[in-house]
Amino acid sequence: MAGIAFFNIPAHGHTNPTLGVVRELIDRGHSVSYYSYESFREKIEAAGARFIACDSYDAQLGLGPEDGARIARDTAFSIHVLVETTLALDGMVCRELERERPDCIVADSMAVWGKAAAMKLGIPFVSSTTTFAFNRESAKLMKQSGSQAISLLLSVPKMNRDVKRLKKLGYPIKNFLQLISNDRYTDTIVYTSPEFQPCCESFPERYSFVGPCILPPESSFEKNKGKLVYISMGTVNNNMPEVYRSCIAAAADIDAQVLISVGALADIGSLGELPENVQLRRWVDQTAVLREADAFLSHCGMNSASESLYFGVPMLCSPQTAEQEAVAARICQLGAGIPLATASPENIRAGLKLLMEEGSYRSNAEKIGESFRHCGGAKAAADKIESLILGLHNI
Ligand code: UDP
Repeated sequence: MAGIAFFNIPAHGHTNPTLGVVRELIDRGHSVSYYSYESFREKIEAAGARFIACDSYDAQLGLGPEDGARIARDTAFSIHVLVETTLALDGMVCRELERERPDCIVADSMAVWGKAAAMKLGIPFVSSTTTFAFNRESAKLMKQSGSQAISLLLSVPKMNRDVKRLKKLGYPIKNFLQLISNDRYTDTIVYTSPEFQPCCESFPERYSFVGPCILPPESSFEKNKGKLVYISMGTVNNNMPEVYRSCIAAAADIDAQVLISVGALADIGSLGELPENVQLRRWVDQTAVLREADAFLSHCGMNSASESLYFGVPMLCSPQTAEQEAVAARICQLGAGIPLATASPENIRAGLKLLMEEGSYRSNAEKIGESFRHCGGAKAAADKIESLILGLHNI
């Protein structure tokens, strides 16, 4: 029996895929501790792990909901937040890990304090990656504007200053890239299929592409017309009244039911009169809706994209961050969607109609969905973790 310590950030999309892996490891007789945040305690304990709360040790950065979008867009800011968090958690995490001496640490690629602690204490490490794995090849899909590239370049000294503060506390980290990027030498679990991962062949065998975690629908959704269009810009950066107004204007000319999930912050009153075929909701049971949908206008967050493809729904892609750009580019490369150049009513109408009328988009989306069903899932992820632990014990 081995001891395994998981680390994660407080985000459902990053935590959900690991819960099946935790359950599988416990079923195989291992013990699992899980470092996360109180709002995730219930889920994590239900999976069978010993929960360790990070909340009261966390850095007091006073971040609000709007900072989520900044973290996704601004690499220097996200490095700063990750380093501050690592420094703040250092005492508690190292004390606990020294006491428990796990055989292996599994940390989400954003929970860098898990990876940093593994390096500092010499504990074997597995990276858990809920986005695509990014190396030199696959990162080419993340288009950056000239000004973004320049601002990133200008922030390199600041990011490396942040990393130096980690070195002072005994973390053997060379530079900021080592903190946030996937490398060839780390055993890595990636929650997508080899078919959907861009440039899959450029990753070594120590990468396991185990498929996405699709939560089963909790309800059933009934269409009230022949076709259903679903629209969502995700949960982080979704206060986009201009986009919703364009969607509502476009919907007047589309022969389909149009359901828009506008999120918690949208001022619904400011969106104007709704045509009879449009419904606005602050939140929907998204997998229940996608199971019935014919087209999806999406920001291409990795979870939304995976859920859409799982149910064979083609996407009109309107990415907002570099990572979503990569997801959108891959969807379009595989013929399962088309890009939305600008969110004008004309473009939205034309894009959605094309996706519903030209059958190849749906069949290409279905093919990728099929590839998800053939991945090894939580069992393959647990095999990867066990093989690392057993390999080390055999040496
Ligand atoms: N989601 C949902 N109902 C909604 C909007 C979103 O259940 O009305 C879920 C969706 O199914 C997905 C997650 O929220 O699992 C959004 O994650 P994603 O990675 O797509 O985007 P993010 O919110 O992180 O930008």
